[in-house]
Amino acid sequence: MNYDFLIVGQGITGSIVALQLKKSLKKFKLIEVGNPNTSSKVAAGIVHPISLKRCNLSWRGREFYEFSDSFYKEINFESNTELYKPYKLLRIFASFEEQNNWIGKTNNKIYKDILSLNSKKIDNLKNRFGSGIVEICSRLSVNEFLDFVSSSFLKSKVLIKDVFKAHELKLKNNRFHYKGDIYSNIIMCDGVNALKNPMFNYLPIIPNKGELLKVFSTVLPTEIINCGIFSLPETKNIFTIGSTYSNEDQKNKITIDAKEYLMKKLNKIIEIDDIEIMDQKFGFRPTSLDRKPLIGEHPIIKNLYTVNGMGSKAILMAPLLVRELLDYIYQKKPLDSMTNINRFSKKINAENIDYAKSLEL
Ligand SMILES: Cc1cc2nc3c(=O)[nH]c(=O)nc-3n(C[C@H](O)[C@H](O)[C@H](O)COP(=O)(O)OP(=O)(O)OC[C@H]3O[C@@H](n4cnc5c(N)ncnc54)[C@H](O)[C@@H]3O)c2cc1C
Repeated sequence: MNYDFLIVGQGITGSIVALQLKKSLKKFKLIEVGNPNTSSKVAAGIVHPISLKRCNLSWRGREFYEFSDSFYKEINFESNTELYKPYKLLRIFASFEEQNNWIGKTNNKIYKDILSLNSKKIDNLKNRFGSGIVEICSRLSVNEFLDFVSSSFLKSKVLIKDVFKAHELKLKNNRFHYKGDIYSNIIMCDGVNALKNPMFNYLPIIPNKGELLKVFSTVLPTEIINCGIFSLPETKNIFTIGSTYSNEDQKNKITIDAKEYLMKKLNKIIEIDDIEIMDQKFGFRPTSLDRKPLIGEHPIIKNLYTVNGMGSKAILMAPLLVRELLDYIYQKKPLDSMTNINRFSKKINAENIDYAKSLEL
């Protein structure tokens, strides 16, 4: 069979590629191995356009938010489920300096509709410097979103549950041949696994480990709370507490250090005596050397693309970045130079060149 695309990986980015290709009526296959500890499977799903540490709009924040907001609202409609919904995010100030900075921003017209000061008392919280509200904030229930995508594409036999093996791919007359099918294009959405694959392993992808706790609590508030770490209400009395960031720890397991770090941070804003830890998870965020996404076409193998390097903002950025890649493929619209992987073309190495040569039948 002939297809327009093969998508490798059904995490957040691969799912978004698949949904956009479906909307453009393209013919494609999606291949996913089903790894249980992927970044997407543990992601909290929080979306807002603010960099909370500095209380600034994040890079292209408003543009990304507006695009992703309407993208996910459409998915709600299609799935007939509230996979995506608005939340209030409370930022607990750590100092008078942070409080002053926030107040200053609320008077700035750029931030007027995004940031406000919280005047309501929140029960049980220790917040002597007060708190601010991020008014434009939502949450995507990521696992439900991934399940919705996989079940609809499994039904239509678009999704194949298998491991993609780069060495079984061949190229003939500018078409990719894989396991008996022929594809005009391939989009790799394989997250940190890209480092194990000779196609794009020259890109400076840095796996950043994040750990989360699932807790039972009758004292945590029902808003999303952020104080460096976050508390996210799930169902009644169940919360996700996260997350850690580590470029050093690359072990595929949860750690006591992460658990202690998260509980210590939480104890700064609430008494933790009655909080019961029910579960702990980890995943590796695909971050990049310059902290910008990695989007574009392979420097040697034409029609081979990647969407990667989403760091901690996949849900915010991926819908528009995928749109930009598809506009590049179909309309030759240039990619944003900050995201285009051609900024790392010089890093391509002998292994990648040998792999490219090995593809020709
Ligand atoms: C603790 C934690 C909390 C986070 N919270 C948030 C948040 O609140 N908001 C936010 O926006 N982001 C958050 N993130 C970041 C977000 O999870 C990532 O940016 C995002 O998941 C990256 O998605 P991806 O699809 O690029 O990669 P992945 O999620 O890694 O998906 C890649 C997929 O490809 C599959 N795959 C790989 N190789 C192959 C192969 N050879 N064959 C077949 N399949 C393959 C994998 O099984 C996987 O399913 C968080 C991350 C962590 C770790």
